[in-house]
Amino acid sequence: MHAHAEPSTHTLRLVLGDQLHPGHRWFSRVDPAVVYVLMEVRQETDYVLHHAQKIIAIFAAMRDFARHLRAGGHRVRYVALDHPSNRQSITENLAALADRYGACRVEWQQPDEWRLDTQLSDWGASQPLDWAVVDSEHFLTQRDELAALMGHRKQWLMEHFYRHMRRRWHLLLDADGGPQGGRWNFDSDNRKRWPGTPPEPTDWRPRHDHRALWQMLQRAGVRSFGDPQADAMRWPVNRTEALACLDAFITHALPHFGDYEDALAADAPRLFHSLLSFALNVKMLHPLEVVRRAEAAYAAGRAPLAAVEGFVRQIAGWREYVRGIYWARMPDYASHNALNHETPLPDWFWSGNTRMRCLHLAITQSLQTAHAHHIQRLMVIGNFALLARLDPQALHRWYLGIYIDAFEWVELPNTLGMSQRADGGLIATKPYVSSAAYLRRMGDYCQGCAYDPMQKTGARACPFNALYWDFFDHHAPTLQDNPRLAIVFRQWQKMDDAQREALRAHAAQLRERLDTL
Ligand code: FAD
Ligand code: SF4
Repeated sequence: MHAHAEPSTHTLRLVLGDQLHPGHRWFSRVDPAVVYVLMEVRQETDYVLHHAQKIIAIFAAMRDFARHLRAGGHRVRYVALDHPSNRQSITENLAALADRYGACRVEWQQPDEWRLDTQLSDWGASQPLDWAVVDSEHFLTQRDELAALMGHRKQWLMEHFYRHMRRRWHLLLDADGGPQGGRWNFDSDNRKRWPGTPPEPTDWRPRHDHRALWQMLQRAGVRSFGDPQADAMRWPVNRTEALACLDAFITHALPHFGDYEDALAADAPRLFHSLLSFALNVKMLHPLEVVRRAEAAYAAGRAPLAAVEGFVRQIAGWREYVRGIYWARMPDYASHNALNHETPLPDWFWSGNTRMRCLHLAITQSLQTAHAHHIQRLMVIGNFALLARLDPQALHRWYLGIYIDAFEWVELPNTLGMSQRADGGLIATKPYVSSAAYLRRMGDYCQGCAYDPMQKTGARACPFNALYWDFFDHHAPTLQDNPRLAIVFRQWQKMDDAQREALRAHAAQLRERLDTL
């Protein structure tokens, strides 16, 4: 008997770890002259220190995707991290594989990160093979669409872009083209404190045993942090699981999503958030199918308009908007530090060991689950970082490493722009900072804290309070002409000199010993 010779290969097609989109047109037809290449490389595990769950979940999903492609009849070359032929660099592996298969053409989907986009196109230009880049067929906008729409404006307001998206995709519109319910924005109906009912839905996500993968990563010496949860990790690794998560969210959480979108609750870390960001960002789910499902729930009377509008805004609005900012402003965007903040991150960012209960809860949860919801990221961790003048680049690396959904195109504008205002206010019309009053209003984090949210100075005073006033005092030259901050500066001016001096002194002393707070 003769062994079958491998069919001759004409083209290699690279599938990156965040391009696991089974509906992509590449996969609609089996072509024996095409080999799909997926690879686990140190280049990707090591560009920043990652949460263990992030590395495990991406590799597990890639392995699942390779199996799915093979089952569909496609030829697949999967390069495992510990395979002896692995050169640990995407482009070096591609060059070696092209040689090995005798391919004359290499194709890849548009990468979402500037880093990979540049690496691949520089490589393409420097080698003799024919190469082409195709659309990833995931987003609702092209990379340059936001810039084309907003280029002439001083401020690139999300609200303006969002209405454009609603019209363009016919989302939640009346027959005459107006917004359903007569308003574009239901934010004022949302943002309630959660009273403890309805109960947080039980965690609907699948369980996976990834111990073998985790052991392989350890053997290979891949560095990581956070809880690997290798014996029962809860992130979906394929489209079927992601769709089940979407179903569960639409049924059990969407009806309350709007009401408690901004709430904080010590015993309900997830509340009514979707936990879909990982499945969306690695492209197991398409943003349009997700928002259409939410829209259908409203049409069927199973979720209120305020909740559905709030959810659609996050995906068709914010998600596409930050991507547009990223592509319009990279690569310079990554190095912005408009407020000149340079303080290193306190050690407790890596352990959660701080007496500030809000930060202890949000960071511990992030270390355990690789997830925190938006208000924990923005108004607890990001808020403190901005008030304490932490280095935005160090913070960016922390966010990029810790969260399961963190890919630079979405993480960087959120961290550097929205949260830290390091871009000089391109995204945020005013800084997202607050004193303890906001955190106390939005949930129960302050209950049982070692600090008192009502005190401004003194040993037990909540650090957010003095740091809040100190932030505006310090940045008055840049911020005091912002009309949205007029009330804050009026309040500051109304205080007597002694009060202002006491706040300044207390804040300076807090900033001296951030590690011990
Ligand atoms: P839900 O609250 O259920 O929201 C639904 C979906 O809307 C999310 O899955 C996400 O796809 C999208 N979304 C919501 N808010 C945003 C936003 N501001 N920007 C982009 N998409 C949004 N999101 C990421 O996907 N990756 C990141 O690395 C990331 N880093 C962030 C860093 C900071 C400092 C802040 C303030 C926010 C960040 N976000 C990031 C946005 C948001 O916090 C997460 O998308 C959300 O918490 C994910 O959980 P969820 O799927 O339960 O979201
Ligand atoms: Fe956080 Fe201050 Fe409340 Fe403590 S008192 S939980 S530090 S806001």
